[in-house]
Amino acid sequence: MPLPRPLAILTPHSKHISSSLLTPRFLGESSFHRRFSTSRIIMALPLFKELVAPNGQKINQPLGLFINNEFVKSKSGDTLTTLNPTDESEITAVYAANSADVDDAVAAARAAFHSPSWSEINPSERGQLLYNLADLVEKNTHLLATLDTWDMGKPLSVAKEEDLSESVAVLKYYAGFSDKIHGRTIDVGPRKLIYTLHQPIGVCGQIIPWNYPLVMATWKLGPALATGNTVVLKSAEQTPLSVLYLGKLIKEAGFPPGVVNILSGYGKTAGAAIAAHEGIDKVAFTGSTATAKSIMKAASVNLKNITLETGGKSPLIVFDDADLEQAVKWGHSGIMSNMGQVCTATSRILVQDTIYDKFIQEIKAQTEKVSVLGDPFSEATFQGPQVTRQHYERVLSYIEAGKAEGATLVCGGTKHGDKGHFITPTIFSDVKDHYKINQEEVFGPFLAIGKFSTEDEAIKSANCTSYGLGASVFTNDITKAHRVAAKIEAGMVWINSSQDSHYAAPFGGVKQSGIGSELGEYALTAYTIAKAVHVNLGTHL
Ligand code: ADP
Repeated sequence: MPLPRPLAILTPHSKHISSSLLTPRFLGESSFHRRFSTSRIIMALPLFKELVAPNGQKINQPLGLFINNEFVKSKSGDTLTTLNPTDESEITAVYAANSADVDDAVAAARAAFHSPSWSEINPSERGQLLYNLADLVEKNTHLLATLDTWDMGKPLSVAKEEDLSESVAVLKYYAGFSDKIHGRTIDVGPRKLIYTLHQPIGVCGQIIPWNYPLVMATWKLGPALATGNTVVLKSAEQTPLSVLYLGKLIKEAGFPPGVVNILSGYGKTAGAAIAAHEGIDKVAFTGSTATAKSIMKAASVNLKNITLETGGKSPLIVFDDADLEQAVKWGHSGIMSNMGQVCTATSRILVQDTIYDKFIQEIKAQTEKVSVLGDPFSEATFQGPQVTRQHYERVLSYIEAGKAEGATLVCGGTKHGDKGHFITPTIFSDVKDHYKINQEEVFGPFLAIGKFSTEDEAIKSANCTSYGLGASVFTNDITKAHRVAAKIEAGMVWINSSQDSHYAAPFGGVKQSGIGSELGEYALTAYTIAKAVHVNLGTHL
């Protein structure tokens, strides 16, 4: 006999169940809950909980769904549990949204979109709210960075110096645009005036991944709010905490109720409900290419405007006239930072044959020197754990694939430690274009190195995957650098660096790496419609 559905269940959840057969994806969420509810104490989850992080930081953590400026329980009482990837200890459960909660959040966002407190607000006041939020995020840097480190495993120093400072800068950048959104007048002769109004699209669904929880939230919220939209944002099920805390700061910053709604929840339930919701006008997504395809299909139900930023297998080309030391340093950080869990990571390096052996020797030495693995709360750590056990096992499976395909293991290729999801930084050389490890996104500390002899060969290999997100070119020949940059199929090319994107420049991919641009002024276009107003100035029909 099926068990009665409990109000709330504190369960271990998908990120920590090592066998993929036990995940909600395969079991269906309700059977998953039933399976684990029998062995667990069933009790209602509070809406806030006092947490103490491993570094001693005390946090009054919201656990509810953030709808209409209040934290509320999920209607079903469903929850999800997030664990510390360093040792798999439980951090907390949070409420998890399903489609009924998405309905509530969309209703709140739609009401807010039409409410005078948002639709009639002076644009500069909208900007001021974003500045208020930026200040609050900045004030809470240590706390928010602690949450991302605890929940996701990135080194605390990186969370603070990179993620948090980027989040603050992005919010301020878009705050400044709020009163600079304007259309054009179009000259078509004396009898007619045409002008355009750049208006918000409406209710925007935003679905973000786990690798940069707070950064991804601010990249999406900044341009959406600066242009006057309202939002239903879903965090990744693996990392709900910092984004929920952001909800608290959004309320404190003074945003009217319903302008931003934040849901924790699973992709297959809450995410899918957002993608298919007829009350949502746009969906912006960052995550895997496979998920982007299902979102694109679901979004067709009401022809939603879409922005998709997906996977990558970005090449880094090193010509023999490059500054080798620089190429080695950027080559290492371009894949090993954030535990290799970066969509733009330059995960393939193509080296000219004349310097191939030397380059491999030096990048191996750099990796062994710099990639210190360990507790992400420790100052000395460069590399923390992979985000979940499932993901860790996926990365390990690519190590086996590399060996089986005949690539040469230069270093790493093993598990590290007896708990948590640590993998030694792994480099394979002698990788051929068609190898699986050269074609598929691994999303781990995993580098594939191949060889070329001519410029044409380098370009051909660079363009040989289905992805087109980032690319790097290392050369001291300025004309070659620009020539190659123009021919690489990618949304972003770095010359003599890797990953040093800037929030003022567009960020996005081509081919199966996505549709549309985030960041920069370009993101304003992604969150507005250009309405043409035709004014008849003559007396003729
Ligand atoms: P990853 O494999 O890196 O976890 P995903 O694409 O699965 O990337 O997840 C990125 C985000 O997309 C997460 O917030 C996740 O919950 C969400 N998501 C996953 N599947 C779906 C889906 N079918 N529809 C909408 N959102 C989804």
